[in-house]
Amino acid sequence: MLSTEPPAQHHGTNDLHHWIGGRKVRGTSGRYGDVTDPATGRVSARVPLASAEEAAAAITVAGAAFTMWRNTSLARRTRILFRFRELLDARAGDLAEIITAEHGKVLSDAAGEVARGQEVVEFSCGAPHLLKGSATMNASTGVDVSSIRQPLGVCAIVSPFNFPAMVPMWFFPIAIAAGNTVVLKPSEKVPTAALWIAELWQEAGLPDGVFNVLNGDATAVDALLTSPDVRSVSFVGSTPVARHLYEAGAAQGKRVQALGGAKNHMVVLPDADLDLAADQAVNAAFGSAGERCMAVSALVAVGDIADALVGRIADRAKVLETGDGRRSNDMGPLVSKAAQKRVTAYIDAGEAAGATLVVDGRRANYDADGPGFFVGPTLFDDVTRNMSIYTDEIFGPVLSVVRVATLDDAIALINSSPYSNGTALFTNDGRAARRFQDEVEVGMIGINVPVPVPMAYYSFGGWKSSLFGDTHAHGMDGFHFFTRGKVVTTRWPEPATRESISLHFPTNS
Ligand code: NAD
Repeated sequence: MLSTEPPAQHHGTNDLHHWIGGRKVRGTSGRYGDVTDPATGRVSARVPLASAEEAAAAITVAGAAFTMWRNTSLARRTRILFRFRELLDARAGDLAEIITAEHGKVLSDAAGEVARGQEVVEFSCGAPHLLKGSATMNASTGVDVSSIRQPLGVCAIVSPFNFPAMVPMWFFPIAIAAGNTVVLKPSEKVPTAALWIAELWQEAGLPDGVFNVLNGDATAVDALLTSPDVRSVSFVGSTPVARHLYEAGAAQGKRVQALGGAKNHMVVLPDADLDLAADQAVNAAFGSAGERCMAVSALVAVGDIADALVGRIADRAKVLETGDGRRSNDMGPLVSKAAQKRVTAYIDAGEAAGATLVVDGRRANYDADGPGFFVGPTLFDDVTRNMSIYTDEIFGPVLSVVRVATLDDAIALINSSPYSNGTALFTNDGRAARRFQDEVEVGMIGINVPVPVPMAYYSFGGWKSSLFGDTHAHGMDGFHFFTRGKVVTTRWPEPATRESISLHFPTNS
């Protein structure tokens, strides 16, 4: 049952809602999660956590809209996408503020996230070209063959907390352009961006029911996974959940792309420009407080440059300002108290394991109006491959320097990691770079580029435990994922033609 009563105030806190069938829908499960401003530690809203019944109702609405939307002309669908793009362009700043208020990342970083998501909207505006099939005349005598691609139906998207706007936007512009309808289940930690986007779609003219937001936790996700009316699942989050969704979704006969966690290495060769490498290591390790799946968390110093490089990184890390992301700070808080505790525990563990703590991010004072979830930039040297600060995805502002002797050692180290999302090499040696990109078993590689996030018209995704499925996000992989192919073989025999009956397998002539 969907309740259309307006969202209520609860103990002075803003109660959020679902967005289903083009309107705000109040949660009826009785379960809520707190949404927190990570810079102050204050609860800013309650988000309803959907029951299986509420999820089923959302799927029904999306399913009912599908026939109408798949039959809406491509010209009209594309015009709505263009309009959405214009509205988002005009109001990107509002969305960035929402992201900062719930995630904590600094405003400029939030604006960058919106811009990277917008690139996928722009790419999707090319849907008329990208959805074109192919045709062959006279493939056999008088026989023509053509291929077409058709939408799947209801597509579920389950997204993580760390990119409240960009990660959903890796998927829904393409899904919608291709004629599918969408149920987005955003992270319960950062639900407001998705609700804001839903209203923008409506303003852009998207028919009700095509884009729906179902708030919730694992209960909602399990209902999406088990519903026969959900045709595909696009997931981004931690590796254990990604694996679970991939296995459970595949067992239900769904298409699944499940992007998981990461431990990204940045390798610096002795011939590299060490100042450039230090600048980029700091940006890539501490941007968004390390809560990026493409963050650099392991710096691999090759040869005798480690002392010089660590010194340069330490000088830069020490002067970074940490505090409220709405102020002119370099780095904001972590997303939650639990994340702060987890990251602090890793720093304790690194120290106990014997790594050299060069910059300690455990401090008491930050530029904020409350007890936010802060940890300052942290740098460890002499980290070895069995320490938990190296083996685990910390997802915080902690950079571990591992010293190795050769490029071969660096490549072997990277290839021994279960994660394989992104990696970067800093060098001026083209031959070394060529070998690195060839031999390293990682999905996204940067050469003198520390966070090599592909453009929207290429595809984003890692290997091994960083992605389950064979389809990466956006680019042509995106259009492939959100459509399925048909091949049509046609002939128009002369009316008077009489053919003998033949049961042999048809061949060409
Ligand atoms: P998470 O796995 O805890 O949650 C992701 C989503 O799954 C959320 O919507 C959550 O509600 C849902 N979920 C959580 N537990 C579930 C369960 N047991 N069953 C079903 N659904 C469940 O991840 P997070 O903490 O929100 O995000 C951080 C993680 O995401 C990191 O590991 C990071 O590397 C990863 N990430 C990966 C990429 C990538 O492209 N590979 C991009 C961004 C984030």
